[in-house]
Amino acid sequence: MPVDAKVIPPGGTIGIIGGGQLGRMTALAAARLGYRCHIYCPETDSPAFQVAASTLASYADEAALTAFAAAVDVITFEFENVPAESVRILSRHVPVRPCWRVLETAQDRIVEKGFFNNMAIATAAWRPVLDRAGLGAAAAELGLPSILKTARFGYDGKGQVRIDDPRELDRAWAAIGERPAILERFVPFERELSVVVARGLDGAAVCFDVVENRHRNHILDVTIAPAPIAPHLARQAQDIALAAAAKLELVGLLAVEFFVTTDGTLLANEMAPRPHNSGHWTMDACLTDQFEQFVRAVCGLPLGSPLRHSDAVMTNLIGDDVNQWLDILQEPGARLHLYGKAEARPGRKMGHVTRLMPRADRQL
Ligand code: AMP
Repeated sequence: MPVDAKVIPPGGTIGIIGGGQLGRMTALAAARLGYRCHIYCPETDSPAFQVAASTLASYADEAALTAFAAAVDVITFEFENVPAESVRILSRHVPVRPCWRVLETAQDRIVEKGFFNNMAIATAAWRPVLDRAGLGAAAAELGLPSILKTARFGYDGKGQVRIDDPRELDRAWAAIGERPAILERFVPFERELSVVVARGLDGAAVCFDVVENRHRNHILDVTIAPAPIAPHLARQAQDIALAAAAKLELVGLLAVEFFVTTDGTLLANEMAPRPHNSGHWTMDACLTDQFEQFVRAVCGLPLGSPLRHSDAVMTNLIGDDVNQWLDILQEPGARLHLYGKAEARPGRKMGHVTRLMPRADRQL
């Protein structure tokens, strides 16, 4: 069969922007398929540098970006908060997948929530907040409790403040650095879900099973696969993720996070156009994992089967949790993944463990 010119066949080099554990695990999956990876990251000691070629440079360094683009066959991201100008420079030289429009939509909560709502995808009630007066007006309209979230650069609960009383508005506005934000009505949710979808160059898309996520100190703690929810709710979450990926004309991965309200309604919270922490369980419990799916998508290969052969519970090893590594290695059914980070700071994701169980529904 002739190979499409847009396909990067095995042997090619994938450029990855961002050098964290997501880049590291992508590079490992790529290596298994015969690819090389080249990581571009401004931080020294990045976990992905240990397993791939690397460029240590800032996202504003035009010469470094140009040299990086010349050294690779395709570029993707393990981190979506990359400046528009950097992506423009890269796109001049080499295919960038997913494209800028996808990153732009996921970078800014105002754009992201607007994207969901324009597609008639329900979210928590929200308002954009551009200044202190806007915050007061938004709080009056939505009511309290609500959560103030910076529009950009928020993750793991950073850049977020819960507001329970109007007297807290000044403090909340100061706490997020008086930056553009959204105010979102607090959702007393029953549980949190997420789903990862992969979409290829040809528009074919596949979804992993929907999972439940539990957080500790605003950081993902545990993912339960599959989520213990009604099949229609799982299907609805998958349909939303597939529709969002198609609308974005995504080439790559998209993770969509949801709240399930106490009356069983699904509300989209946010999305990430890259591998996602809540998809790590797929490495041990699916025929094709999220990282391989990501590599296949950005290289223009056919996507693999996302079939789940086992049930799984993934637990993040955060900070000192990593000291459990020896016990985990001796536990039957546990699969240990460590990210090669030297220092176990509090709140830092050091690795994860996936505990496998036979599928409860025995469909295989
Ligand atoms: P986010 O950065 O938007 O994913 O928020 C991080 C976490 O904060 C979520 O996974 C929820 O656990 C919690 N959270 C965020 N927004 C809300 C909300 N509107 N209502 C209740 N909890 C929320």
